[in-house]
Amino acid sequence: LSSNILNLQHILLIQTLLSVFWSQWEEVSGYDENMSTIRTYQVCNVFNGNQNNWVRTKYIQRRGAQRIHVEMKFSVRDCSSIPNVTGSCKETFNLYYFEADKDEATKVYPPWMENPWIKVDTIAADESFSQVDLGGRVMKINTEIRSFGPVSRRGFYLAFQDYGACMSLIAVKVFYRKCPRVIRNGAIFEETLSGAESTSLVSARGSCVPNGEEVDVPIKLYCNGDGEWLVPIGRCVCKAGYESVDNETMCRACPSGSFKASQGDQQCLQCPINSRTTNEGATNCVCRSGYYHADSDPLQMPCTTVPSAPQRVISSVNETSLRLEWDPPKDSGGREDVVYNIICKSCGSGRGACTRCGDNVQFVPRQLGLTDPRVHISDLLAHTQYTFEIQAVNGVSDQSPFSPQFTAVNITTNQAAPSAVSIMHQVSRSVDSITLSWSQPDQPNGVILDYELQYYEKNMAESNSSLLRSQTNTAVIWGLKPGTIYVFQVRARTVAGFGRLSGKMQYILYCIHCSSCFSFQVSPGMKIYIDPFTYEDPNEAVREFAKEIEVTCVKIEQVIGAGEFGEVCSGNLRLPGKREILVAIKTLKSGYTEKQRRDFLSEASIMGQFDHPNIIHLEGVVTKSTPVMIITEFMENGSLDSFLRQNDGQFTVIQLVGMLRGIAAGMKYLCDMNYVHRDLAARNILVNSNLVCKVSDFGLSRFLEDDTSDPTYTSALGGKIPIRWTAPEAIQYRKFTSSSDVWSYGIVMWEVMSYGERPYWDMSNQDVINAIEQDYRLPPPMDCPNALHQLMLDCWQKDRNNRPKFNQIVNTLDKMIRNPGSLKATSPLSSGVNLPLLDRSTPDFSSFSTVDEWLDAIKMGQYKENFANEDLTTFEAVSQMNMDDILKLGVTLAGHQKKILNSVQMMRDGTSLCTPDPCGPPHRKTPSSASPVFRAQQ
Ligand code: AMP
Repeated sequence: LSSNILNLQHILLIQTLLSVFWSQWEEVSGYDENMSTIRTYQVCNVFNGNQNNWVRTKYIQRRGAQRIHVEMKFSVRDCSSIPNVTGSCKETFNLYYFEADKDEATKVYPPWMENPWIKVDTIAADESFSQVDLGGRVMKINTEIRSFGPVSRRGFYLAFQDYGACMSLIAVKVFYRKCPRVIRNGAIFEETLSGAESTSLVSARGSCVPNGEEVDVPIKLYCNGDGEWLVPIGRCVCKAGYESVDNETMCRACPSGSFKASQGDQQCLQCPINSRTTNEGATNCVCRSGYYHADSDPLQMPCTTVPSAPQRVISSVNETSLRLEWDPPKDSGGREDVVYNIICKSCGSGRGACTRCGDNVQFVPRQLGLTDPRVHISDLLAHTQYTFEIQAVNGVSDQSPFSPQFTAVNITTNQAAPSAVSIMHQVSRSVDSITLSWSQPDQPNGVILDYELQYYEKNMAESNSSLLRSQTNTAVIWGLKPGTIYVFQVRARTVAGFGRLSGKMQYILYCIHCSSCFSFQVSPGMKIYIDPFTYEDPNEAVREFAKEIEVTCVKIEQVIGAGEFGEVCSGNLRLPGKREILVAIKTLKSGYTEKQRRDFLSEASIMGQFDHPNIIHLEGVVTKSTPVMIITEFMENGSLDSFLRQNDGQFTVIQLVGMLRGIAAGMKYLCDMNYVHRDLAARNILVNSNLVCKVSDFGLSRFLEDDTSDPTYTSALGGKIPIRWTAPEAIQYRKFTSSSDVWSYGIVMWEVMSYGERPYWDMSNQDVINAIEQDYRLPPPMDCPNALHQLMLDCWQKDRNNRPKFNQIVNTLDKMIRNPGSLKATSPLSSGVNLPLLDRSTPDFSSFSTVDEWLDAIKMGQYKENFANEDLTTFEAVSQMNMDDILKLGVTLAGHQKKILNSVQMMRDGTSLCTPDPCGPPHRKTPSSASPVFRAQQ
């Protein structure tokens, strides 16, 4: 039997050889339609009935196929063409198969019958039968294909059953179908056999070609029953650095000099200008040395470089201002984002090295990142050489290891008059004199030779001004008229002439009748304070001492603080026939008890008895409507403790002493009125816009009630006491007198000179009580003149009779103001062993582990970044600093410079403090030794 193999890739021919037969089949030679010789199996027992002739194939391996196809070529004789044939002649035959795991068939097994054989079909010829000579000549050949499945054993046999036909079996082709290995959509699909049914779809998972990557869904393809792949699902694309070639069948590495940044269909791109690749398959190109890519640059953008220096700088100096203009750099580095930075260096009068300019120099529009090639610089020092470096930078400058290229210009500023004095305030006044003090101009522009003070009576013409020269920033103006308003202005003078005049300040001198405030003018019938609680009906006291104000005259503007009884607001008061004034309004919150109302209003009945420029002035009360209000003059700068903390280091000693003088004057007045304040502390002093300090807070309630949660006030037998501010006899046996107020005044002095530091820092109240008992006292705050610390120590005398009286304190302070030289001497901070050990203004450096901690401790934390930028991160580096270094850091405020420098000095000298023994015993500072300086037992 010949095999006739179809040359189809998806058909696998299994076996064609028929071998074992039973009964009448014979192997004979004949001719096909083309008259070629062929071998066939024939049977033709049409004349005998009951034919059952089987012929079987050899064992056929299944080879993984699930469905088997059989193509049969055969011819069958038309029964009618056979003469004398009986009814037993047939024109069909049957096809069977039998599955077996091994070649086990014999001549008798499996038995020649349906079941165990499985019938596939009865096959009939579709061509008409031919008149063939069975003797071996021409035959008409039929071809029929049948398939069966699923098959699962290792192999099978086929069998053909003739039951009375005259036929020849010419060729049998056994095959299965498979989908061949293909590459589709960038993925490889391995050869896959068709399914068991002709309608089956077998799914095959593809794997991406090398260097390809699946996008989204897994890639899949279905193989149908005919061995054909259907349409693929999903796809693979080439990964970054590879491009697709040969119809998506390969991902090829980008050739050197080209790159592909991401996965996708796109092709490799040539490297942009000034860049290259180091090997094949590049995902990006690297810039040539000296060229850079900014993060925001597109990948195809050429690598660029830093710009060259700006060109042709033109400078024009005008006194202490300067205009610079220049041309853009010749080479922008290939970019369009060139901007300019200005570096300012001041070179003094030309000697020595240049240092970076401080923060006070102004640049318009700005110093860094200028987009236009011009800048206006002002507030330079007069008569000073400067170097300005104009840097050109662009988007890649920060990647270059080199500093930006710049063009420098040297200029010298001209002579310029000093700037205006900005702060003036009253230190003291009497019936015919006033003492004024003012700050130095921000820009002296040279050595100040003197100040000129101009003043005139407010209701007289300004042209009648009187002039007064002063070589210091304080002046006492005598011969003024009592009760008259004067207008004052001041200006500084240098060799360049006068600066601009300051703003106008108005002060009124006292009238004789209220001058009882001064000890040298005590009038005989002086008023004495009356405790409102001595009234049977305290409302009576309110009516007597406080003016009732119509609520319609009061306009509340905003909340400015929280009082003990309710909010404190600012607002306006317009009394009939008077001009509108700014006021503070204390309110009594709703839901108050009658007792609370009484306590709240008691402050007004106390305040209403006072009339002094250093005592907060009561305008009146609103009691006929709710909320109940107490209305006082408005103090723009709020309470003294927070005001000082906000302006740390910003005032001259004279200004501070001026404030203290005001407080002492107010206290003297209260003392003369027989009023004991009991709670004198910086938090209870208010400051107005002229820096005038006024004593406030006359509430009594917090001493009486026990429900306040403020830790400043500690419960003691019979009331609450602010321990740190209170004299020992008042703490111990509630002996509150004007002398105990003097003790508190000493603490206020310390608070003022330390710019709002907490007395005794973080010591506990009990430790404070014990330390005071053992004669320890607070040390001088930094830069505190000795004379002032001595006055504090006097206020803290144990025996209250030895403490100064308020009028003496006022006199002492007045003397200091008149003779500022007396305030020059300050305690030698760097004298090592002589330092009190617990002096927080001179910290123990061993307790700080970082420079930042140290800066926080000296309240200079705002300069942490400046220190870090200059690499001043170790104590060793910091201890080497001098004034120039501090200037270089950008610390421009004189107070801050001093604070840092002093602490650095301490660091240098004080390190030996940590070893206790060589330091010797604590040194007692005051000559009297009655009040030793505060020391801790650490
Ligand atoms: P007091 O209840 O008096 O302690 O006031 C609470 C807060 O309100 C104070 O700490 C101040 O900040 C503010 N305050 C009180 N009175 C005035 C005033 N006359 N002028 C400005 N602020 C004031």
